[in-house]
Amino acid sequence: MKQAELVIIGGGPAGLCAAVSAASSGAKVLILERNNALGGQLVKQTHMFFGSEKQYASTRGIDIPNILLNELDKYKENVEIMTDCTIVGMFEDGVITVIHKEDKYFKVKPEAVVVATGAFEKSLVFPNNDLPGIYGAGAVQTLMNVHGVKPGDRVLMVGAGNIGLIVSYQLMQAGVKVVGILDAAPQIGGYLVHASKVRRMGVPILTSHTVKEAIGTDCIEKAIVCEVDNKFQPIPGTEQEFDVDVLCISVGLTPLNELLAMRGCEMKFVPQLSGSVPVRNENYETTVENVFAAGDITGVEEASAAMVEGYLAGLCAAAKLGHKSDDFEEKKADYIKQLDSLRAGPVGEKILSGIEQILVK
Ligand SMILES: Cc1cc2nc3c(=O)[nH]c(=O)nc-3n(C[C@H](O)[C@H](O)[C@H](O)COP(=O)(O)OP(=O)(O)OC[C@H]3O[C@@H](n4cnc5c(N)ncnc54)[C@H](O)[C@@H]3O)c2cc1C
Repeated sequence: MKQAELVIIGGGPAGLCAAVSAASSGAKVLILERNNALGGQLVKQTHMFFGSEKQYASTRGIDIPNILLNELDKYKENVEIMTDCTIVGMFEDGVITVIHKEDKYFKVKPEAVVVATGAFEKSLVFPNNDLPGIYGAGAVQTLMNVHGVKPGDRVLMVGAGNIGLIVSYQLMQAGVKVVGILDAAPQIGGYLVHASKVRRMGVPILTSHTVKEAIGTDCIEKAIVCEVDNKFQPIPGTEQEFDVDVLCISVGLTPLNELLAMRGCEMKFVPQLSGSVPVRNENYETTVENVFAAGDITGVEEASAAMVEGYLAGLCAAAKLGHKSDDFEEKKADYIKQLDSLRAGPVGEKILSGIEQILVK
């Protein structure tokens, strides 16, 4: 059995920031990441980030992991990183089970853990939704931006949130024709700046529309689309056909929470946080002592919030293990202030109303 003081599960922005914060406080940190590279969702985000300067706004997402890894390198005597490690179980006695490179299996028993596994993509139910050529937006981004593979020639995007709009733009940059963007909501969910950019390039955005059916033999050849009423029900007679070889579904993410549920952490379904999330205190400690969570797993927001949550959870986990830095209170107050400012505004209001339902005071 491998011993560790603090294990961090997931090397995305939340996990890396938790590692920086805990290692700089003096805790011995082991990061376990299932991919062969660190960075989480950031490794495929070629666009410049929005948000505030403190969380690297105007820096390309793909460049942020290196900034965080350089920071982590300052405390390298306290840090061990293992990639290609998928955590498959977290047990009541604190043991974590890991599969390394698909065939090696080992156990680790840390004194504390920060779970930062992020979120996974939601899908949609419609006839033939399993035809080849129907992808989630994250998969399309991975194909294009990580592996340099064009997913197809004619794409219909479902979802006009920020991810749908940004991925549509990236598809066009890769020379793919985007025939339209649909959204079942009566208004565009993403920022107007992204919507205006794709509209200027001639892409229609059809609100109050959904995909009714995919048609094809070996792969998708057509998508049938229709209007929906204010109860999101299809309106008969409004069907239109789009000739496409890719249907890209971008209808949101939901927290990847199985490990926390398995460990016995109290979970609650909170629609404002996009799924089932852990009940936690202001230190991001769950209802199981010494099990912390940070990032999209605590509610889907953005990398900016995930990073600050990571810093806060790492700081508090280290303090719990006896590594309380002299400036602990000052740093904690600063992270809480940064989160408050990221959550100011209409989207933040929704997030805050969700947090109220899971925060133990
Ligand atoms: C197209 C797109 C555009 C975006 N644009 C922006 C933007 O401009 N600004 C912004 O702030 N945010 C943006 N975001 C959101 C941002 O990327 C996420 O909010 C952020 O990455 C969440 O960080 P995280 O660390 O919680 O999770 P992730 O980045 O998802 O990282 C989780 C990590 O955990 C690992 N993991 C999961 N399960 C296991 C397991 N069992 N064992 C081991 N490892 C595991 C994963 O492999 C991954 O590396 C965008 C997202 C997308 C998809």
